[in-house]
Amino acid sequence: MAKIKYNTPIVEMQGDEMTRVLWDWIKEILLEPFVELKTDFYDLGLVKREETKDQITKDAANAIKKYGVGVKCATITPNAQRVKEYNLSNMWLSPNGTIRAMLDGTVFRAPVLVDGITPFIPTWTKPITIARHAYGDVYKNSELRVDAPATAELKVTYEDGRVETKKIFDFKSAGIIQGIHNLDSSISSFARSCFNYALSTNQSVWFATKDTISKTYDHRFKDVFAEIYENEYKDKFAEKGISYDYTLIDDSVARIVRSNGGFIWALKNYDGDVMSDMVATAYGSLAMMTSVLVSPDGNYEFEAAHGTVTRHYYRYLKGEQTSTNSVATIYAWTGALRKRGESEDNQELIAFANKLEKATVDTISSGFMTKDLAGLFKKDGVTVTELNSRDFLLKIAERL
Ligand code: NAP
Ligand code: MG
Repeated sequence: MAKIKYNTPIVEMQGDEMTRVLWDWIKEILLEPFVELKTDFYDLGLVKREETKDQITKDAANAIKKYGVGVKCATITPNAQRVKEYNLSNMWLSPNGTIRAMLDGTVFRAPVLVDGITPFIPTWTKPITIARHAYGDVYKNSELRVDAPATAELKVTYEDGRVETKKIFDFKSAGIIQGIHNLDSSISSFARSCFNYALSTNQSVWFATKDTISKTYDHRFKDVFAEIYENEYKDKFAEKGISYDYTLIDDSVARIVRSNGGFIWALKNYDGDVMSDMVATAYGSLAMMTSVLVSPDGNYEFEAAHGTVTRHYYRYLKGEQTSTNSVATIYAWTGALRKRGESEDNQELIAFANKLEKATVDTISSGFMTKDLAGLFKKDGVTVTELNSRDFLLKIAERL
C-alpha cells in the first residue's frame, strides 16, 4: 500500500518519561506504516531543554507560527525535585506556558467519548469542550495582607500624568486585599480563538462571567465578546447553523448539568481552571482528555491533557509492564494530521485521521483497554481484557 503523503511539515515536539515511550510506539505502530510523516522535529525532553538552555522550546513555538500545526508530547515542568533529579542549571519554565505566551493562544479541552464508559452525568452524551482564557485575573494578581486599621485604594497613574483613584475599603481591623487585571487585546484574542474554533468544529459557544456583580471588569469581557461576535462572526455562525450565547456563570452551570453536551463552554481563567477538572472527571478519565492550543491567527498545537505519567515510567525503567493509556496522545496526532489535511485539502489524510480515531474507540468499546479504563467500563455482552501499553496499540493497529 502506498503511504499517504502531505506537503507542509507538522511541528513534532517529543517530551518526557512514559509519554515519550508511548510517542515512539504510536509512530512506529499506528502512523509510520500508513503515513509518510513529514515533521519539523524538536526534542522538548528535559535533557535537551537543559542542553539548549530552553532555546529549543522557543524554536519549537516559532516553528508552529511558521507551519501552523504542531503536535506535542507531555513534558516535565521542573520543580525543586526535578532540578536535583536532572541536575538542572535552572528551573526552566513550563514549555506549555512558554508556547502559550508566544502563540497568544486559548486552550480547548475535550473528552474522548466511548460506548461503554458512561459519564457521571449520564445525559452528557456529547463532549463538552472547555475554552479557558489563559491570561491574567487571579493568576497575575498582587495581594497584600493588611495587618492593622488602614484605608486601601486602587490607583492608576497614566503615562500622560492623569491619576485615577478609587477606595477599596476602610479597614477597621486586619484583613486582605488583592488587585487583578486583564487586557482588551487578550480578551479579544480569546474571543476570536473561541469563535474560530467554533466555526472549525461546527459547535455553538456558551460564554459565562459574573457581570451582574463585576459591572466593569467582567462586563468588559461580555462587551468584547458581543462586539466581536456582532461585527465579525454573526453571519458565519448563521451560515453554519451554530449560535453564540452569553449567560451568567451560575445560570450557565445549571444549564450545563442539564445539557447533552456538544458545545464549547468559554470561561475566564479561574472558572476554566476549576470547571475543566470538573468536566474531565465527570466524563471518566484524565487519560481521555484532549487539548488543543489555538492562536488568534489560526495556529494549532495539539496535545494530551495529562502529564508524563511518572509513576508508570519508573516501573517501565525497572523492566516492568505498564498499562498506560495512549488515547489522548493518539488524538493529539490525529488532530494534527486532520488539521494538516484540511489546510491542504488532503482528503486521504483526513480520512486516515478519522479512521485511526474510530479504530481507537472501537477497540475500547469492544472490550480491549488499558487498566485505567477497565474499572469504568460496562457494556452488556462485552468482557473486559486489560492490555499493557504496547499491546493496546497493537490491538488498535489490527483493527485499523
Ligand atoms: P500525570 O502524568 O497526568 O499523572 C497522574 C496520574 O494520573 C498517574 O500517576 C496515573 O495514575 C494517572 N494517569 C495520567 N495519565 C494517564 C494515562 N495516560 N494512562 C494511565 N493513567 C494515567 O500527572 P503528574 O504525575 O502530576 O505529573 C507528572 C509530570 O507531568 C510532572 O512532571 C508534570 O510537570 C508533568 N505534566 C505535564 C503536562 C503537559 O505537558 N501538558 C501536564 C500535566 C503534568 P496511576 O499512577 O494511579 O495509574
Ligand atoms: Mg487546575
